[in-house]
Amino acid sequence: MPRRKRRRLVTKEPHVSVYKPAGIPTRELEEILITIGEFEALRLADFEGLSQRDASTAMEISQPTFNTVLSSARHKVASGLVQGYILRIEGGQYRLSDGTGILECLDCGASVDMSSENKSTCQKCGSIRLRWLRWEKGKRPGDKK
Ligand SMILES: [Zn+2]
Repeated sequence: MPRRKRRRLVTKEPHVSVYKPAGIPTRELEEILITIGEFEALRLADFEGLSQRDASTAMEISQPTFNTVLSSARHKVASGLVQGYILRIEGGQYRLSDGTGILECLDCGASVDMSSENKSTCQKCGSIRLRWLRWEKGKRPGDKK
């Protein structure tokens, strides 16, 4: 069976999407981008305390993949804190587990941040070719008819 890159299943999106060191102008700061999937991995493993096995099941990805995502997330957060960078949490390819669907960019494949005020353009590449993905319960979003 061919391996297909699947979107990480995300239970909830973060309340806050940007963390910025106080007292320093934004233009003088570097920024680290943490994807929603990486944030979810951190949340499940380090906040909720799930085992990597349970957390990977929750996100519907393999344990090695979860491990890679989690390591990347931890490294980004640590380097952001140590070096005083802006941490921005957004983007990446993901879908929400409540099944309400997502907007996907047809040009670069990014998921559009639904909490953003501007839902008509892709925040990643600026494209306006967006597709609203919806699926019925129990049906995989990637499945072809
Ligand atoms: Zn795009």
